[in-house]
Amino acid sequence: MPVFHLKYRPQKVTDLDLPEVSDKINSIISSETDFQSLLFAGPKGSGKTSAARIIAKAVNCLKPKNGEACRKCENCLEIEKGNSLDIIEIDAASNRGIDDVRGLKENAYLSPIRLKKKIFIIDEVHMLTKEAFNALLKIIEEPPKNTLFILCTTDAQKIPETVLSRLLKVNFRKGKEEDLERSLQKVIKGEKIEISEEAKNEIIVNSDGSFRNLQKTFNEIILEFGNKIGKEEVEKYFEASRGEYGGEELENDLRQRDIEEIIKKLEKMAEKGIDFGELRLKWLSYFHQKMLLNLDDGEIKRWIEILIKSGEMEKIAIIEQLPLELAVIEMVGDRVIMSRSDNRDTNPVEKVDEESRVIMSRSDNRDTNPIEVEMPKVDVKEIKVELSEVEEKWGNILGAVKPYNHSVEAFLRAARPKKIKDGKLLIEVFYKFHKEKLEEEKNRKIVEMGLLKVFGGAVRFDCVLAEADSKRTMPMAIVNKGDEKVVSESEIYDVAKNIFG
Ligand SMILES: [Zn+2]
Repeated sequence: MPVFHLKYRPQKVTDLDLPEVSDKINSIISSETDFQSLLFAGPKGSGKTSAARIIAKAVNCLKPKNGEACRKCENCLEIEKGNSLDIIEIDAASNRGIDDVRGLKENAYLSPIRLKKKIFIIDEVHMLTKEAFNALLKIIEEPPKNTLFILCTTDAQKIPETVLSRLLKVNFRKGKEEDLERSLQKVIKGEKIEISEEAKNEIIVNSDGSFRNLQKTFNEIILEFGNKIGKEEVEKYFEASRGEYGGEELENDLRQRDIEEIIKKLEKMAEKGIDFGELRLKWLSYFHQKMLLNLDDGEIKRWIEILIKSGEMEKIAIIEQLPLELAVIEMVGDRVIMSRSDNRDTNPVEKVDEESRVIMSRSDNRDTNPIEVEMPKVDVKEIKVELSEVEEKWGNILGAVKPYNHSVEAFLRAARPKKIKDGKLLIEVFYKFHKEKLEEEKNRKIVEMGLLKVFGGAVRFDCVLAEADSKRTMPMAIVNKGDEKVVSESEIYDVAKNIFG
């Protein structure tokens, strides 16, 4: 399969898509001063990693000319093939901890194996933890001989000042129309493509200024429609791909830990009426491919396991998107909890009390805070309920909440009423993340609204985090359409066991 966006990827400094970046890098390479740490900052798909690889070649080429690599010597060829052990590319989004940077440090103090300089390209460097940044700072302050660090980021503001001040910064940006056109023209010429102006513009407009998107899209269009491209073909292509939530997009969202964004997109899919089973299989196949490319990526393996388990639930879920919603929450959520658990108080009981105090004071401020879900204007009387009532009507509560927000309903569905304490309902949740979400002001209102609808009075509630070992009995209340029948305890246990192991 021809892959033009790799074939036409810039290979020389002068080929770079952004002219000012090309100039700046040229002056850096040509200058006599030794440079050891660079920062490439700019949006996705603006050519940062391409530029980093070009520099790797330029500084290692055996016969460079005017700062440009020759692309013929053994060093150039080895680097272009991606075979060199001295070019180390690290994705900081999935290797963000202190141990990852320690490993990097050990490697950095070994001499290059074959090349003149060992090059570390660290992508999405802003994702490193604070400790990891501190460790990185030490390396950058006193860099080992014959090494060059190229840090890439889409969010330079998140990089600590101490680190920033040590780096020579090159700014990347989104492509303007003329930059994108120039980039496209290389492929059009090289592959002898016939394309109408309208079609070209449509592709450019849809690239969102990303050279990577642009080339990838164009590549796919050519593969699908051949060498003659008109407006109709391009429109057909975008029509088909629009709105689909692909594996790559999901992976990006997962790495950014952006659960709200993911749930929002899933809700959109639900409105469109897409087949969630099929979507899950597409995601699986995407991550499967990724896993084969990088067998060491533990996170990808974990995600695959969660997606496979989620399939078990498809057959019995009444709400179609629920299995995937819970799956993505687990895919993101567990990680969030794990990274925070270190800071957790040693005394969990005290912690809960402290949190409920915060919550109480927050709800006291209710009147001064504008809210998204309006409680009825009339005075609502606070009422006392029994635990058994809540248990009995749990399905109705879920049903009342759902029209306001599917995700809140999904969080509640993965929780259970635990007890009534001081007139307050305590809802047991199994992930810290669920607790945080449910206690967000706007979500809290939605739950209160659901309780109000079912019980006809205000019921106050708090969320409590379950003890770690009770996770096994996590409920998976499968409620049928009428929200009347709840499956038996043992069925719930079996389902939960299937899903969460
Ligand atoms: Zn060379």
